[in-house]
Amino acid sequence: MKVSVLKESAPDERRVALVPEAIGKLTAAGLDVLIESGAGQGAWLTDDSYADAGAKVVNRNEAMAADVLLMVGKPDEATVAGMREGQVAIGLFAPLADRGLAERLADAGVTAVSLDMIPRMLPRAQPMDALSSQANIAGYKAAVIAAAEFGRFFPLLITAAGTARPAKVLVLGTGVAGLQAIGTARRLGAVVSAYDVRPETKTEAESVGATFIELTSVGPASGEGGYARALTEEERQAQQDELAGHIARHDVVITTAQVPGRRPPLLVTDAALRAMAPGSVIVDMGASELGGNVAGSRPGETVVTENGVTIVGASGLPSSMPAASSAMYARNVSALLLYLVKDGELALDPDDELQAGVIVARDGMVVHPALAPPQAAPSQDAADPATQDAAAQDAAESASAGSGEGSASAIPGAAS
Ligand code: NAD
Repeated sequence: MKVSVLKESAPDERRVALVPEAIGKLTAAGLDVLIESGAGQGAWLTDDSYADAGAKVVNRNEAMAADVLLMVGKPDEATVAGMREGQVAIGLFAPLADRGLAERLADAGVTAVSLDMIPRMLPRAQPMDALSSQANIAGYKAAVIAAAEFGRFFPLLITAAGTARPAKVLVLGTGVAGLQAIGTARRLGAVVSAYDVRPETKTEAESVGATFIELTSVGPASGEGGYARALTEEERQAQQDELAGHIARHDVVITTAQVPGRRPPLLVTDAALRAMAPGSVIVDMGASELGGNVAGSRPGETVVTENGVTIVGASGLPSSMPAASSAMYARNVSALLLYLVKDGELALDPDDELQAGVIVARDGMVVHPALAPPQAAPSQDAADPATQDAAAQDAAESASAGSGEGSASAIPGAAS
């Protein structure tokens, strides 16, 4: 069976689905590994290094003809148009945020396997958890960016020219990325506080060196599968108001809050920004076209407010560390591939809980229960994409409710 690695189609994507170190295990399992020429370039991986590891370097057409196509991000229209019936495509397809891609892959007769839908709480799925591997990288990079943007030191420094006090860093959202951001900021010498709406994260945040902030105005908001639930309007307002006081007391804020399939919650309002001291820095990992965790943040841009607060709209962080993120992603995708292969051939079993979690399109249909079409939304909300996301999420939650551990945990974030 031929498995090919495609060159990524998104212009700013520097990751590649396999690195040379990952190829030996796949060839040992009886797979022929093809790599599209130049696929590793963005991560400084040459065609020769893949050939030396046992892969065959091929052109685009030959790569597109393989039985299994490996990629990191979403394929563009031309790539989908070049796929054929019966092929298997594996990547991060963010189907909760982009159901249209799952439909196009289904229409093409392609079996679409989306790594970001992996049931993360299944122990056997952990080596395949690309959301966690990429979130770890993003959290690390967010802290490094914050330190680089901050006009003062992170650590306490005592020198002949004076003493610098350590920076006060606040991390909002203590999932995988937030915990890595805390650890990294601590290693750089900052004094770190953290907050999450899921109180069970307190001990995790403390274990990596943060002081956990508990808000008095908002109760716990743990949702299904270890994720947060969306807050009500009243809770959101109370949270923003109480957080504003804490934000103003910090030099640096790193925001990582996500609610699966929904627009990231707004945690830092205009009022909170105005209360921050000039020279403060915010890195918004939730920055998206629909808005992020921070008022006024723009994905991929750095803006400075009138009162001198730098807001970094941090998008594509894993791609900005392409060697590390490709190596980790390659381990995730190889583990999944080896799980799906028996005697050198794919042996798909939709009754397997893990496989049912990741297969989003098959036999010409979108098959994942979390992608059941949303119920008709009230007409006044029809034009609001965030509301549509929320309606899709409600459908996803009700589709998986009560159907066991795997289903509940198969509602991951849409970020890649
Ligand atoms: P995520 O990216 O969906 O969200 C990041 C964080 O934002 C979460 O901690 C969430 O609680 C928080 N958040 C959401 N809304 C908020 C708000 N209004 N205010 C403050 N914080 C808010 O989460 P993630 O990092 O992908 O992982 C979340 C969960 O998945 C965790 O429970 C983690 O332990 C679990 N997980 C489990 C496994 C496993 O069992 N193998 C693997 C990975 C992750």
